[in-house]
Order: sequence, then C-alpha cells, then structure tokens
Amino acid sequence: MHELSIVMNILDIVEENASKNNAVAVHEIELDVGELAGIEFDALGFAFENAEKTKMLKDVKFTVNRITPVARCSNCTHEFDTSAYYSECPRCGSVKTTIVKGNELKVRSFKMD
Ligand SMILES: [Zn+2]
Repeated sequence: MHELSIVMNILDIVEENASKNNAVAVHEIELDVGELAGIEFDALGFAFENAEKTKMLKDVKFTVNRITPVARCSNCTHEFDTSAYYSECPRCGSVKTTIVKGNELKVRSFKMD
C-alpha cells in the first residue's frame, strides 16, 4: 500500500530527528497534506494506526491538516481554490494555471520529550 510506505518514511524521518535531539519519546506528529497530493486520507490514517512503531513512537498522536488546493493564474496572477490539477482561471478564463498549494505532503511539526 502506497500510504503505508509514506507513513513508514515519515516515522523514520521523525525518529531520526528526535534521536539527534536526544528525545526519549515523540508525542505528536502533525502533517500538512494537500488534497492533490495523491493520498487517500482514510488510508493514511489506517496506515498510521497499523504501522509498526518503535518504542520512541509508540504513543504518538497523528494529526493531518488537510490543505485545500490553490492555483495561480499565469496570465492575471489571480489565485483561487481548486480541486483539480488543471483548471481555468475564474477571472480571465486562461488555462495557464499552476498549483501553488495543495499538492504537498510534509511534516509540519512534531512534539517530543
Ligand atoms: Zn487569470
């Protein structure tokens, strides 16, 4: 499952960082996940619940911030909410739009002791 490998990857990164900071436990991981990141949100939560966790991560809470995608028009620079990779600018009708937010998947923060 795609989401499980993503979760394992996130847990590795967090643990590595926590170890560098001499942490004994990580309590919370907060993620920013865009709706265009290609992630099933339910599957992500499920993968996290079921991922094998090390002692440092065993009581961790997992929070996902769902990011609504925003596109910017290359023609008139208007920014607008969207739900698709390719969309038409609602102001000028141009199809030269690029996603500026909403395709990310990143660890926003984590809390540790
Ligand atoms: Zn435009």
